[in-house]
Parts: sequence; structure tokens; C-alpha cells
Amino acid sequence: MDKKLKLAVIGNPISHSKSPEIHQNFADQFKVNIEFNKHKVTQDNLEEWLRSFFKDDGRGVSITLPLKEAALNCADEISERARLASACNVIYLKEDKLFADCTDGHGLVKDLEENLNAPLKGKKILILGSGGAARGIIPSILQKMPEKLKVANRTESKALLLKKELESKVNLDETGILFEAGSLSDDFLLSDSFDFIINSTSISTQPGESIGLPEALFSGTKLAYDLFYSVEKTAFMQEALAGGAEKVSDGFGMLIEQGAESFRLWTNLIPDTSRMLNKPID
Ligand code: NAP
Repeated sequence: MDKKLKLAVIGNPISHSKSPEIHQNFADQFKVNIEFNKHKVTQDNLEEWLRSFFKDDGRGVSITLPLKEAALNCADEISERARLASACNVIYLKEDKLFADCTDGHGLVKDLEENLNAPLKGKKILILGSGGAARGIIPSILQKMPEKLKVANRTESKALLLKKELESKVNLDETGILFEAGSLSDDFLLSDSFDFIINSTSISTQPGESIGLPEALFSGTKLAYDLFYSVEKTAFMQEALAGGAEKVSDGFGMLIEQGAESFRLWTNLIPDTSRMLNKPID
């Protein structure tokens, strides 16, 4: 019998993770024999855990909250997209070195443009939040050349820092993309209208909780997208529909697509994601 490909997902908490089911589905498509376990890992034992996993024949690891930034410092080499994001969600062995990459932005853009038919070029986009997820998706969104990208965060200083750090890595003037950062104040939010509004805050992890966005924000919005995934519509999605957004989506498609990109990095195989997109995992 073939030796099992040893994969894992690490984070804290980790019991809720759907990664084992997703990657088992991908592996079954190619009859690849995998072992995919969840491990509770903290920042204190992260580096030691990673070194020992890979020394013990590990092939690849998915990284989730709250380790996405800390894991970057444990890698020997990092990809360009992880460098731009200052975060990683996957680490694997490449030429005997620990290589970190970030597939979150690829996953979101693929879900928006291919699964939801929402091309980003020339569009006005609002991102709510400036945490690890926002950092992961913004470089990929900028690559698609929107007309304008606005980032609004509860703690304004974090949005301004994110913008400053990105500007030190990417020449935004050269791209012609208008990029603004600010607070969640009505003045900042309502000074534009947006084709797409993306909620990258963690508010939806608390069911029923609301950011308290002005209803007028969603007037003219083609798509309101919540990175969080759940069977029920999140409060953000419900408010967007009530405010006039044409369409809403949760982040299940992004989860599948970022996983597929990670699976490709680990195996060189490109899974068919359409098989999973319409079948939420319990
Ligand atoms: P994070 O680094 O902890 O950042 C949390 C963000 O949410 C911060 O900007 C924070 O603002 C904001 N926030 C928290 N509570 C808020 C509130 N009550 N009102 C307004 N803003 C609030 O978390 P993350 O890693 O970015 O993850 C964010 C979300 O993305 C999570 O729901 C996660 O599940 C989801 N996600 C989904 C995928 C996918 O594949 N679908 C991938 C990655 C992440 P402050 O700076 O003011 O604290």
C-alpha cells in the first residue's frame, strides 16, 4: 500500500476546522492516500511543532487563526504573496526548506470572479476590517486592478498601518488604483458608493452581532461578501440585503478555493472545486 501523505491543519481553537473533510475530498478525486489531522498549536510551541512535523515526514500544513502572522517567522523562505500579505496560511517542504505561502487572496478572487461572476477590474471595493484576513486578500484584489479600494476598520490606526506597510512594498501610484484607509465612521463609509463590500472583520463569529453599518452603505452594491462561512445568513449579509445589495455570499467558496490552491502546492494536482461548492459540509 502507498505511504500516506502526511498533512495537517494547526491553530487555536481548531476543533471547528473543515480542512480535513475538504482535503479528503480533493485527495479522493485523485485516489491519493492522505492522513490529515487537526492539531491545537499555540505561538509558544509553533516553531518546535512545525520542525518536528516536517522532520517526521510531514508534507504540508494549513495555518489558521491566530498563527498566520507568527508562522511566517518560522519559515526559511516565503512567497511573494506571503511577503505582501505579511501573513501565511500554508507551509510546506520545498527543497528541504520550510516554505510559507498565502493562498487566501487567490481563494477569494477565484470565488468572486469565477464562481460568483463578479470581476474586480474597474470596480469600487470596500473592505471592512484590517486583521490577518484583510492583509491576506488585499494584494490579490489589487492585482485585479479595481478603480478604488477603501479599507475601513474599527481601530482606525490599524487600517492606516496596513496601508502604510503595503505602500512600502507596492507602488500604488504607478497602478493608478485609488487606495484609502480610515475608520468605520459614517462620514468615511458614505463618501463613496461601492460595487462590492467585503466583510473581513471577525464580527460574524458571534452569531447575531452587528457592526452597526449605516443602511445607506449598501445602496447600489452588487455583491456583499462575508469572509465568514455559515449555513445561516450572517447579520452582515441580512443587513446588506435589507439595505439594497443585489446579492450576498458567505466565504465558503473562498475556503474551498484557498484549500484547493494549498492542495496544489502540496501535490501538484489541481482539484475540481465545483464538486464541493454546492455541498456545504456539516
Ligand atoms: P483578526 O486578525 O482577529 O481580525 C479581526 C478584525 O475584525 C479586526 O479588523 C477587528 O477590528 C475587527 N472586529 C472584530 N470585532 C469587531 C466588531 N465588533 N466591530 C467591528 N470590527 C470588529 O481575524 P482575521 O484572521 O482577519 O479573520 C476575520 C474573519 O475572516 C473571520 O471571521 C474568519 O473566519 C474569516 N476568514 C475566512 C476565510 C475563508 O477562507 N473563508 C479565511 C480567512 C479568514 P480591530 O482592529 O478594531 O480589533
